[in-house]
Amino acid sequence: MVGKVLTGNGITRCEKATYALVGGDELSDAERDQLLQLCRQRLDAFREQRGEEVFAHRSHHRTPFSGSIKYRVLTRARGRCECCGAHEHQRALEVDHVVPKNHDGSDDLSNLQDLCFRCNAGKREAGCVF
Ligand SMILES: [Zn+2]
Repeated sequence: MVGKVLTGNGITRCEKATYALVGGDELSDAERDQLLQLCRQRLDAFREQRGEEVFAHRSHHRTPFSGSIKYRVLTRARGRCECCGAHEHQRALEVDHVVPKNHDGSDDLSNLQDLCFRCNAGKREAGCVF
């Protein structure tokens, strides 16, 4: 729904079921980080107003990846979960370590993957669930 509203107002465009910010390709990493920071502030205000249950499925997310890292991982994964293939518009995607940090996994792009919240939660318990 959000994608349709933003596209209808000329803020995003939709190509092949993927939404992109109009002019987003021209943003620098710093501008992209600034924009993501502004979005997070609005989401925090929304969360404050509506309560935590709105984002309960993301409550375990605690790794502070920068916006540009998230963007690179998401772009590389073509907006899909790298485990089950769910599209970002089907399920919220999260950047995750292939080798966990507590097993000396690095923050390098080669050790990061895009997982939907279901696969990420399942992975913690029993490896890839799909
Ligand atoms: Zn998945």
